[in-house]
Amino acid sequence: MDGTHSIGETNKSTGLSILEKLGVTPLINAGGPNTKHSGSRPRAESTEAMNAMSEVFVDLEELLIAAGNEIAQLTGNEAATVTSGASGGLVVQAAAAMAKDDPERIAQLPITNGIPNELIIQRGHRFVYDHLYLAPGSQFVEVGRTTDCTIEEIDAAIGPNTAALIHLESPYKEKTGVPLTELSDLAHSHGLPVLADCASMLPPRENLTKYTSQGADLVSFSGGKAVRGPQSTGFLVGKTEWIEYARLNNAPNPGVTRAQKVSKEEIAGLLAALKVFTDIDENKETKNYLDQMNFIVDQIAEIPGLSAKVTHDYDHYIPHAVIVLNKDWKGPTYSEIAERLKAGSPRIYIASDYRDPAQCMWIDPLNLQDGEVEIVATQLRELLIKGASGF
Ligand SMILES: *Cc1c(COP(=O)(O)O)cnc(C)c1O
Repeated sequence: MDGTHSIGETNKSTGLSILEKLGVTPLINAGGPNTKHSGSRPRAESTEAMNAMSEVFVDLEELLIAAGNEIAQLTGNEAATVTSGASGGLVVQAAAAMAKDDPERIAQLPITNGIPNELIIQRGHRFVYDHLYLAPGSQFVEVGRTTDCTIEEIDAAIGPNTAALIHLESPYKEKTGVPLTELSDLAHSHGLPVLADCASMLPPRENLTKYTSQGADLVSFSGGKAVRGPQSTGFLVGKTEWIEYARLNNAPNPGVTRAQKVSKEEIAGLLAALKVFTDIDENKETKNYLDQMNFIVDQIAEIPGLSAKVTHDYDHYIPHAVIVLNKDWKGPTYSEIAERLKAGSPRIYIASDYRDPAQCMWIDPLNLQDGEVEIVATQLRELLIKGASGF
């Protein structure tokens, strides 16, 4: 050796070394694919595909059409296309509903003069990310109450300015309201599309076709949550006609969605992740998560003043260890516990219900790597035992 060394040998950077140089402290993500806590870990197959794709050039439109066909096939849908996150998909949905395949309208947005631009949304389907629907110049017409809505109320709101009906599927939605099948029948009887935000509803994998089979014309999913593709990706599935409108309104075309471009590397990374995601044996995967979450629950269930149990339902897309502080709990609040864990060493992020953080908190195993479930259980147990006696 002559004293020099090339990058890729002794100087090879790691995630930790990059963070260390920047002076940023990493954390254990025990709270799930939350964007603020950096989403999910892209699968090895996904990052490999991204690297490989960096070697070539391509016509992006050709790539997007082929990638859309591949996603349609992998997910069992008529058609599909790539978006910049599920939220990018919402912008594209609204633009597609207003401009369809009309080049003048596509170029005109977000100015909607002369274009029907109203999106009908049930009050119980309002959500923190729904402003993205408004980005291409549309407006909401809100119907019903936060707790419920009837099909008659939606029907009465439809008029000459209506562009689409919105449907949200999320743990953070009121469970009452108009069923998607009825909403779809109504929309289609008026020649209107149903735009659905189902970003976080994977797994179960059966949801890949559930909402399209219930009549939604465009359904937005995240590629950077449990699919474990690049954090910035998402995809739309739906009817061939509407997917084509979506694609025409989407980047890289010069329109209102231009700021949402997805690179060829990200497209390849999403395809690779989706391939693995759709191939995985879901029962086996669930069993593995159940084992990890039972381990956590066993470590803390006996602590006085709290209840801990493994929950796997509509609100918990994979098994979670859900912790409830009972009336006789004398210790710190949910947010104090979360803050202490995040300030600890190692730092740990755990989840709570963002609408009402005083309900419960939970551990989500999606992002836990080998050895981390034990660290999380130990830190949590120590903190809660101390907390049970009021600190
Ligand atoms: C996560 C989520 C989004 C945002 O998805 P991204 O892929 O992060 O853009 C939008 N809507 C709902 C309901 C979500 O859960």
